[in-house]
Amino acid sequence: MDKDLLLKQFKEYQNRMAAFRFAMFQIRWDASTIAPSKSAAYRNKMMGVLVGDNMAQQRDPKNLDMLEKVSQMEDIDPLDKISAEKFLKAIRKFEKVPREEMVARQQNTAMATRVWEEAKKKNDFAMFAPYLAKNIEHNKKSAEYRGYEGHPYNTLLDDYEEGMTIERYDAFFGLLKEELVPFAKKVHTEGRPIDDSDLYKFYPKAKQREFLDYLAGAVRYDLDRGLISESAHPFTSGASLNDVRVTARYLENYLPASIFLGLHEMGHAMHSQQGDPAHEGKNLGGAGMGIGESQSRFYENYIGRSRAFWQRHFYKLQNIFPEQLKNHDPDSFYRMANRSKPGLIRLDADELTYPSHIMVRYELEREIMSGDVDVNKLPTMWNDKIEEYLGVRPTTDTEGILQDTHWSGGSFGYFPTYALGTAYGAQFYYALLKDIDVEREIANDRMEVINAWLQEKIHRHGGLLTPDELMIGATGSSFDPKNYVRFLIEKYTEIYF
Ligand code: ZN
Repeated sequence: MDKDLLLKQFKEYQNRMAAFRFAMFQIRWDASTIAPSKSAAYRNKMMGVLVGDNMAQQRDPKNLDMLEKVSQMEDIDPLDKISAEKFLKAIRKFEKVPREEMVARQQNTAMATRVWEEAKKKNDFAMFAPYLAKNIEHNKKSAEYRGYEGHPYNTLLDDYEEGMTIERYDAFFGLLKEELVPFAKKVHTEGRPIDDSDLYKFYPKAKQREFLDYLAGAVRYDLDRGLISESAHPFTSGASLNDVRVTARYLENYLPASIFLGLHEMGHAMHSQQGDPAHEGKNLGGAGMGIGESQSRFYENYIGRSRAFWQRHFYKLQNIFPEQLKNHDPDSFYRMANRSKPGLIRLDADELTYPSHIMVRYELEREIMSGDVDVNKLPTMWNDKIEEYLGVRPTTDTEGILQDTHWSGGSFGYFPTYALGTAYGAQFYYALLKDIDVEREIANDRMEVINAWLQEKIHRHGGLLTPDELMIGATGSSFDPKNYVRFLIEKYTEIYF
């Protein structure tokens, strides 16, 4: 076929896929924020039609043939070539999994999520167990159909962060277990206590929102190309560089939730807003869940939980909440905001105890994917591990194994990227320090200098580099978890001893 005609067909295909993504983005955003509660049934029916149409396009042999040819063309725009390769890769990924298996899996996760919500409310693991068992079975089958190197879990780990394997995660979590877990225990038993009760006073939602708008300005999240809305579980979503939205969650009796989850989502948003406009609509994807999380954590932890940040911004916060924060100054607020306390809930965990929560989930997933774990024993296995690493034991499954939605949605291999991304963040931070006086720039309200560094080294590459390539390009060496351990031990030694 004529090359120009082929490229014309490819562009049409690319545009159709981009338009579909854009429509789904708008619908899902609406569903998670402002849609009326009774709108779900009709919306789901319509979404089903759209998804079906989209799948048919992807599986159409004519399209596959066209993508194949474009991916092999030599003298075309390299971004188009990569785009065609990425389309093919996504379609091929599940090619060997039979259609009926895909459908059965989808049906089970949909049911499992509904049952999980109820089980969590009722603290009833037994009602969820059969659905969890099926989700596990589907994941094992999927790894078998798709093939794996070394271990079936490797295929799933690679889905969420390219290049990651059990061996690499074992080395990472092994180091955390050896150095961070005992250090955190020492902080909790021997550290100078920090009174954080002022964070639990009454903080009206409208005032928290006012501060969040201020923070958007502080980190330079562009609200002409973004939006802050509200949802039960904060998230970031965008289908274009010029439309990247975040949601926040406000707790009127706990101030840090809106601030730090807000900065987290704005970090995700900065990653997207600072992308390369030339990538728009080309299905080039992102750099992986770990790299994505490294950017949200960068703004949340390495910037937002730093002393310099509160030296610059505390007085604005105090201005908004003069009564609640009257006994504080930047330093005491910094200490309160970094208070570490072992807890049961991952989402409420502080910077120091957070990785232990992920370690528990990783170790359980590894065992689950390795052999025949009795699903009914998982709650006890969970509680034992939480007790071992955090020194506290859940008394209900709602506060234990039922707390997160990931396994109900059939996601295995996702959790470890949370800890990995946070650890990547430390390595990026040390590399940034070599080039820029970070504290001075934050103190002088010059976030654009830091943003420009992140854009140059990370954001502009989008999905073009693998995580390893990105890490080496930005920091000069491959990922080394020692940076993360060093960062946390230095930071918390200074705060607590
Ligand atoms: Zn995130």
